[in-house]
Amino acid sequence: MEYFPIFVKLQGQACLVVGAGEIAARKIDLLARAGADITVIAKEVKVPVLKIQHQHRLSILHKAFVPDDVQGFKLVISATDNDETNCLVADSAKQRDILVNVVDSPALCSFIFPAIVDRSPIIAAVTSGGAAPVLARLLRAKLESIIPPSYGRLAQLAEKFRPAVKNTIAEPAQRRIFWENILQGAVAELVFAGNEQQAEQQLQAKLAQHQANVNNGEVYLIGAGPGAPDLLTFRALRLMQQADVVVYDHLVSPEILDLARRDSEKIYVGKQRQNHTLAQENINQLLADLAKAGKRVVRLKGGDPFIFGRGGEEIETLMQQGIAFQVVPGITAASGCASYAGIPLTHRDHAQSCIFVTGHLKNDDINLNWTQLAAPNQTVVVYMGLVGLEKICQALIAHGSPKDLPIALVQQGTTTHQRVITGTLTTLPSLVAAQEVKAPTLIIIGTVVTLHEKLNWFQGEAS
Ligand code: SAH
Repeated sequence: MEYFPIFVKLQGQACLVVGAGEIAARKIDLLARAGADITVIAKEVKVPVLKIQHQHRLSILHKAFVPDDVQGFKLVISATDNDETNCLVADSAKQRDILVNVVDSPALCSFIFPAIVDRSPIIAAVTSGGAAPVLARLLRAKLESIIPPSYGRLAQLAEKFRPAVKNTIAEPAQRRIFWENILQGAVAELVFAGNEQQAEQQLQAKLAQHQANVNNGEVYLIGAGPGAPDLLTFRALRLMQQADVVVYDHLVSPEILDLARRDSEKIYVGKQRQNHTLAQENINQLLADLAKAGKRVVRLKGGDPFIFGRGGEEIETLMQQGIAFQVVPGITAASGCASYAGIPLTHRDHAQSCIFVTGHLKNDDINLNWTQLAAPNQTVVVYMGLVGLEKICQALIAHGSPKDLPIALVQQGTTTHQRVITGTLTTLPSLVAAQEVKAPTLIIIGTVVTLHEKLNWFQGEAS
């Protein structure tokens, strides 16, 4: 380890910055955020530094640097474009055992600046020790994306409750488990959702519960998106990685399931056409029972849970039984398939509205408002429409749609098995019947479908 990582308290400490250009301004800004007492020495002061001075009191000395200037400072930064001055600053500081950084000259530095993710009071710092700054920055970007912006507020909440938790739970190992649950569970989620007041109340309640030795679980109803695993939301991924149990149905691909916590229990509850592994009421109750047993339950559904996903019914049961839950939206099949097939759902020249309907047959019939669906200048998206495809096309024509209205069928949209079959209301049913089409499939109807030929950008293996 070439550099020793520490976090230094600079509140009220005298720090010197030599130079007052743009790069100096960035360092001055960092020092100001840490509450340092900053002196700037420079012959010429640029606007960004003057801007900082408006919010943070800087002592600016308009002069050339001389070695004695470093006297009395805890930390010195040299950010001039003059190599000679930079060397002089470094030498003067080192002679007096003062920590010094010369921007972009690792050889002259006794300390370096890491790339940081600032979620104060949480700060993550990454460095490559000057070997590959871009790599450090890439890693920082990754951290930026996985540490929610409100992590700092979560840390503040934890700080506030630390003494109370310590008083209530004397045993350190138990305390650690308590905090792990708080910081990864419903309380944390409330903070992330901006509901800090409720988070405090819950934390207090959990603490009281802990005393009473009651342990409640919760349910996360998560939209897994249309198929491609990287179309999951960050929130979905975070919650999946905390799950004790994952309850999933057939639209959720093995690749997505693999992203759930390794040792979580996986329960398949089916729902293929004609083959319901568990009835909906039983699924609703299963979720409630698992949560009551203290588990963090992820209910994983294809697409979005509130679009033909019966998510409403599942949370209704949870609500009735007083179980904590949240709903995480996902990219619905219409949106995913349309994007990946290069068929915009709305378009100024084609469609000013878009309707999502289910083509599911009930008693061999489809009950839809055909007059509304046959209207021009709109896009109609049919979920679960493969079996009823021919009936749908016939009904639209019977209600006034042009016989040659473009229509597309998207198979396994967004996955490597995606296939798009296009035709008209007259031709598509036989085109589809002639091929071996694999579920799930989505139907898109309207003149937007003509854009597919031009905008088709995604090449699945099957196309
Ligand atoms: N909640 C889901 C829809 C569930 S209904 C969502 O928001 O997407 C199941 C239907 O969704 C399927 O019959 C099919 O019409 C459609 N569907 C889901 N994923 C799909 C995919 N990757 N490609 C094509 N259609 C899909």
